Amino acid sequence: MRRIAGGWIIPRPVFTSFNPKMQKFFAIPIIFLSLFIWSVALQAQQIDLTGVIDMHVHAGPDSRPRAMNDLQAAKLAQQAGLRAIVLKNHFTMTADRAALAMDQVEGLEIFGGIALNRAVGGINPEAVRQLVAFSGGRGKVVWLPTFDAEFYVTRAGSGDAFVSIIEGGRPVDGLTEVFSIIAENDLVLAMGHSAPEEVLALIPLAREQGVRSILITHVFGQGATFQQMQQMAEEGAIMELDWLAAYTNPDLINAYVNAIQAIGADRFIISSDFGQAGNPDHATGLTDFVRALYAAGLSDSQIDLLARQNPARLLGLDQPTLLLTD
Ligand SMILES: [Zn+2]
Repeated sequence: MRRIAGGWIIPRPVFTSFNPKMQKFFAIPIIFLSLFIWSVALQAQQIDLTGVIDMHVHAGPDSRPRAMNDLQAAKLAQQAGLRAIVLKNHFTMTADRAALAMDQVEGLEIFGGIALNRAVGGINPEAVRQLVAFSGGRGKVVWLPTFDAEFYVTRAGSGDAFVSIIEGGRPVDGLTEVFSIIAENDLVLAMGHSAPEEVLALIPLAREQGVRSILITHVFGQGATFQQMQQMAEEGAIMELDWLAAYTNPDLINAYVNAIQAIGADRFIISSDFGQAGNPDHATGLTDFVRALYAAGLSDSQIDLLARQNPARLLGLDQPTLLLTD
């Protein structure tokens, strides 16, 4: 310490001469301190969800315990700056609920869909026709069976009844008709909890019927190999990466990022798949997801494709409005 005029006391500089011993002594703590500051800065990084789309939003009313209802989910999404959400229920059609929520929340596109599980008659073309016909026009996504999928039920070994999509190497009755209704109405075909092999067999059939938007529901959860994901991408499908799975298994983030870097960010979307009672809200989930993807090395433009551009393309949000002439 030294005393200067006015009575101030200031410490003598530590590195007055560059003593190598002192350097060594301080180098390690300084490295740790920098790492700590870097990780704190990363945590504090502001994530902007403006324009982001969540295509996998669970909310109540539901027969499974949910953290909030559709309206609450829509309001929180709107407050976080999201552009659109898709309400997903495993057992009932959500185009009606989406239309009601749209009336209550300004500035957010809210879509619904139908998952072709047993509760709606399985592979039931009439259920898809009604999804489209409901007033409000919010029906947009058709999921192949999820909790009732043959692959899902068989893998779980529960012995429950299931809905097949392929039998004896052929699509089941009604599936081709479902595909053609999807094509006529420019809906999104989401593959639900199907096996990757089933997905790869069905993509060309859906394309034949004119289906343009194909989404492979949480592709990692379905156990797709890298080669299968590459093939799905080559066939023009978009693959979903969900936060729910990575939230419970953080190692997945690196697997996601490896797939994105190898196959291309233009082939994937990210979604929350949140809504379970006890989990944070969807926007919080997406914020944490985006932060984790940045930390694992993704760039702004890759995040933009995954969270904004690709889902907008799937939902037809960026297409010019068609002018009706009569
Ligand atoms: Zn889900």
